[in-house]
Parts: sequence; C-alpha cells; structure tokens
Amino acid sequence: MRNTFALSLLSLFLVSCQEKTKEAHEETTVETKQEVIVHEEYTQPEPTEPEGTEYYEPKVPVVGPASNDRPPSDAIILFNGSSFDGWMHVQDSTAVKWHLNEDGSMTVADKTGDIRTKQEFGDMQLHIEWRSPLPVQREGQNRGNSGVFLNGMYEIQVLDNNENDTYVNGQVGAIYKQGPPLAMASVPTGEWNVYDIIYHAPEFNTNGEKIKSGTVTVLHNGVLIQDHTEIKGTTPYIGWPKNPSHGKGPLKLQDHGDDSRVSYRNIWVREL
Ligand code: MG
Repeated sequence: MRNTFALSLLSLFLVSCQEKTKEAHEETTVETKQEVIVHEEYTQPEPTEPEGTEYYEPKVPVVGPASNDRPPSDAIILFNGSSFDGWMHVQDSTAVKWHLNEDGSMTVADKTGDIRTKQEFGDMQLHIEWRSPLPVQREGQNRGNSGVFLNGMYEIQVLDNNENDTYVNGQVGAIYKQGPPLAMASVPTGEWNVYDIIYHAPEFNTNGEKIKSGTVTVLHNGVLIQDHTEIKGTTPYIGWPKNPSHGKGPLKLQDHGDDSRVSYRNIWVREL
C-alpha cells in the first residue's frame, strides 16, 4: 500500500517535470523566433583611430530655430492671423466663414462646418495653438470641443477638460475613441494651449490594404501625451476605426456644431 502511494507520488512528480520541461522548451522556441538586430556597418573590422567612426556627408540642413513668436525658417505657415488664404470649408470648398480675430487668431463660427487646408500633407511636424473659451459653458464633450484631424481623418481631440470628466479615449489629447493621452496637460481655460505633433502616415499596398499603421507623437504644452502611438484607423463617433487607402491629405479643424467657440492661432508644418 505504502509502495503504491510512493509510486503515485513519483509519477505525479515526473509528469510535472515533463510539463515544466515542455513549457521551458516552448519559451526557448518562442525566444529563438525573435529577430535579432544586427547593425551591418558594425560587423566590418573595427577602426582603431577616432577618424574611422566620423563622417561629413551628407550635410545636415540648417534650420532657423523656432521661438515664441517665430516658426522655424523652413516651416510652411498655414495660419498666422492675417487671412484664411489657404483654407476652405470641407463640405463645399467655399471660403472660410469662421471668425478672423484682431489678435491674430481664428474662432470657430458655429455650424458653418469644418475647415481644411487647401494644401495636402503626408508625414509632418505640426505646430498648432488652441484656446477654450470663457465663460465656461456646458459639460463633457460639449465643452470647448474641436479637433485637429491629421491627413483630414485622424482626430487629435481638442476639449476643455478642466474640471470636466469624459471618457478617457475622448478627452483632450486623445486619438479620438482609440488612444487616451499619457497625461492631461491643459493650461487654465481661456489660456493658449500648444500641440506639437509628429505624424507618420500609414502605408497601403496596391490592393488598398494597410501594410503599415500611421503613428503620432504629441507634446501638449511640452508634455509628452502620445508617444509614437499607433493609429488604428479613422476616428468616428460611432463604430470601429476604418482604413481606407489614401495618400496625402489636408489638415482639418473641427466645428463641433454646439457653439464651441474654440480658437486657433500660429499653425505651421514642416514636411518630413
Ligand atoms: Mg472633437
């Protein structure tokens, strides 16, 4: 009887060992499948002099740096407060009916519709400043809602989120209904916010299928809130993201249609 019990214990132990070995083997198998990164240029014989690891061509372009009141020297100015030249309404391509303000900003004119640049862009660095209106009015998604649409279709949310909770994947700085921001970095309502955005467009094959996702990095008032985040598709109010094939597209700004009174200024891009 005692021997039978001992044998049972032993067999249980052996089965357990076999399972563990199997698991370990599977883990090893998975690990060996991962691609190892090899930097080909460093597989050459290693230089023994400092000059062997220094090069001078191609030259790096010289760009005048941005400051508070001046974009970088190679930026394309999309809006500097002087006019709506270069912009039109999305719906019917007519002249922009939003308000052009004396302080060099623009403000959404309610229910006139979204506006877009006439020029189209792919990969880009975008600088845009926006302001939620005072006095504060309404709640949730109806408080100072607008949006910056990359490629005309991927919305980075603009919202007055101060003391104003909403769904996190629709809060300020979210890739709308996809990716919440890493932080909420808004200035007080009525002051100017800054978005600095790095956008890389998705790629599609000749059948129109997506073969590489777009990505977006966003600094909100100097705080990283989207870190090379994958864009999973369009950003609709209802339903899943979609992935229609596209090339370059405009920069689009949203009229949320509820008297949002959001303002924008100092908009420029650098094509990448
Ligand atoms: Mg919006």
